Amino acid sequence: MSLLEQILKIAQKYPERIALAEAERDYSYREMFDAISKISEQIRVVNPSERPVLIFGKNDFLTLAAMLATNVTGRAYIPVDAHTPFERTEMIYSASKPSLVITTLPLTDRFKALFANRIEVDAQLSDSGLKDFPEIDLSQAVSGTDSNYIIYTSGTTGTPKGVEVSQSNLASFTRWMNHDFEQIEQNRILSQALYSFDLSIFSLYPSLTTGGSLISLSRDETTNFKLLFERLNSTIVNTWVSTPSFVDICLLDPSFTQERHPELQQFIFCGEELTMKTAEKLLAAFPSASVFNTYGPTEATGAISSIKITPEVLAKNERLPIGYAKPGVDLRIMENEIIIVGDSVAKGYYENPDKAVTQAFFEIEGKPAYHTGDAGSISDDGLLRYQGRIDFQVKFNGFRIELQDIEANLQALSSVEGAVVLPQYNEQHKVTALVAFIKTNRTFTDKAEERTFTKEIRKELSKTIMDYMMPTKYVYQKEFPLNQNGKVDRKAFKVKGRGE
Ligand code: AMP
Repeated sequence: MSLLEQILKIAQKYPERIALAEAERDYSYREMFDAISKISEQIRVVNPSERPVLIFGKNDFLTLAAMLATNVTGRAYIPVDAHTPFERTEMIYSASKPSLVITTLPLTDRFKALFANRIEVDAQLSDSGLKDFPEIDLSQAVSGTDSNYIIYTSGTTGTPKGVEVSQSNLASFTRWMNHDFEQIEQNRILSQALYSFDLSIFSLYPSLTTGGSLISLSRDETTNFKLLFERLNSTIVNTWVSTPSFVDICLLDPSFTQERHPELQQFIFCGEELTMKTAEKLLAAFPSASVFNTYGPTEATGAISSIKITPEVLAKNERLPIGYAKPGVDLRIMENEIIIVGDSVAKGYYENPDKAVTQAFFEIEGKPAYHTGDAGSISDDGLLRYQGRIDFQVKFNGFRIELQDIEANLQALSSVEGAVVLPQYNEQHKVTALVAFIKTNRTFTDKAEERTFTKEIRKELSKTIMDYMMPTKYVYQKEFPLNQNGKVDRKAFKVKGRGE
């Protein structure tokens, strides 16, 4: 049975259960399929080509319904968060050439012009008042190796690259999540990650295929601590899914404890290193909860390994292991790099002509394989350990960033002659700052002038990079250090806490 068939079956069984809860309102499975049915009908009327559909929206009910409706018509969806700067959205648009854009919020004129072929989903659509379960035809829906979604992630050239994930990749991931983690009846799962990040699939598909409820946090709630704590203290969550960085914020609130949240039974982390410090704090606050550290890149569909972090695991390790492989995946270490082989490996980078990029995907013994760029080791019993990156990708506040992406966009500015961006690490191997070294002819008579220049650079840069990629420190130099080959010597720049 395909994922959509599973979701439909559970929805028909429990039509009045909450599929998704926003702060203001709950939406039932019946209402979700009502919205899916209407949006898929709108797509059919437009009758676009078979190419993917770009969904421009927020983390909310309508955007989720638009993604599933796209799959119902047999097309892959490309989730793009509405806060993506215009120029970056344009890059994704021209790289993916979608057949159609579906928007779930009002657009500015520039976006309207870019998204010429579009459907604007009206918020009224979720208030139909219909009481019967809608008719839904899944005969054209994505299944098997059809593409399910394309998620765009930071690329080394300064242009995002799209990871194309099939329905069967996603089904394999969902099956694993539904078997190997704690199974909770009428699970209420936190849905915090933006749909444009693959961490969101940890919540969406396991919840919807088992009749669970998505507890959806808006961007306002995730960026405003007061709103966040109010929401968390006024709702029930059984399963927590987030990056470790996000739970670090929540741990700042003294009410984030088991006593206050007795229903919170499991925490699932992915996306960046779970530090000893975070795990220790969390287990102290929630001694009875299960804490899972999972690992995997977007290119291998969510996660491919996991381990339950217990006080014993904490006592035995100095750096937490990242787990045992999920069924269907075979892990290898080649020249110190973690290689993922098997049914989780995505189809590739969508229509990407750059061989240097696409060669990360390859085959081993006829099976799909992926070079993670992560350094690691595997013990005899199959336990995987992470030892940092072998390239210039970093995680900053839980977000994946190619440093060269920032550098390329800095270099494109007329006032910048050269740019090197370097991470600053703390003793827990966590990036605490991104330092931009900028080569420029400008001379500053005082600090105020330098600050004005930095402001200008940040303003220009914010047009092409996501806000979470913005460097936090700026150092201006007339010359860059060069190595013996005459190339810029990245190792010669002085940053605190290097050596990751
Ligand atoms: P993303 O595609 O955003 O999920 O980022 C994938 C990358 O995040 C991996 O290649 C790792 O570098 C890092 N990562 C993901 N999970 C973990 C983990 N549990 N521990 C350490 N690094 C992780």
